[in-house]
Amino acid sequence: MEMRHQLREQLKRLKMPGLWQALDVRLGEAQSNNLGHLEFLSLLVQDELVNREDNMLSKRLKAAGFGVQKSFEDFDYRFNEEALPASMLRDLATCHFISQKQNLVIGGPPGIGKTHAVKAIGHQAARCGHQVLFRTTQKLLAELQSDSSERAERILRRAVAVDLLILDDFAFRKLDQREAELLYLLAEERLGRASTIFTSNRPPEDWYAIFPDTVVGGAILDRLVSSAIKIITTKGRSYRREVMGTGNRSLGDATP
Ligand code: ADP
Ligand code: MG
Repeated sequence: MEMRHQLREQLKRLKMPGLWQALDVRLGEAQSNNLGHLEFLSLLVQDELVNREDNMLSKRLKAAGFGVQKSFEDFDYRFNEEALPASMLRDLATCHFISQKQNLVIGGPPGIGKTHAVKAIGHQAARCGHQVLFRTTQKLLAELQSDSSERAERILRRAVAVDLLILDDFAFRKLDQREAELLYLLAEERLGRASTIFTSNRPPEDWYAIFPDTVVGGAILDRLVSSAIKIITTKGRSYRREVMGTGNRSLGDATP
């Protein structure tokens, strides 16, 4: 008992809770399966590693700010195969495009699963060990102009630095000068350095009109979109309407 107590305290100091949690199971296993010392130790170290990785993944998912989380496990690939090709989504889920620092643009009508798909890609990215930030474009722009300059700076630093920035519902409405400048700054900092995903209910050719200065806007967009992977559709079935029976919401249809 004394030794157990001591071990528990030592593992606490070493910050190895996974090993402690697994100890009794592994001790039982060692006895019934006659595990060698080395095998026993190796299993416990493995348990600690799995526990740490789980914790780090939870932290990355929380920091991403998905709100309602969506993953490919609850995504029906066949439902909108034409609008959102399964092969492309599966390819994106490998996170190769993030290592390649490529952008992704998904444009199409409301309800077809754009937000679900990019949240699922973000989930996979977190699983691959990437830092992810998910925001509707509106919300990020609001946060970047927060009254607390400290908060605004913190989110700007994250938005610039994360491996994957997901801007949902891009081109939702016209931008003012300050908002356009903030997007320009983000584009400038991230282009070729880290991936950004844009979803929109409008096709990219309509995005120019949201900028106060279409020349500057055009320059930003060309850089963001031209080399991006694109999934643009004008069709697509609304899962929201057909399966969930809740009808279309208006343009700003981001899942909360
Ligand atoms: P969009 O962003 O294109 O407007 P969403 O991704 O918000 O559409 O999808 C609307 C709702 O339908 C969400 O609750 C989403 O989880 C669900 N949904 C959409 N497509 C699928 C799909 N292929 N499989 C499972 N659920 C889906
Ligand atoms: Mg959406």
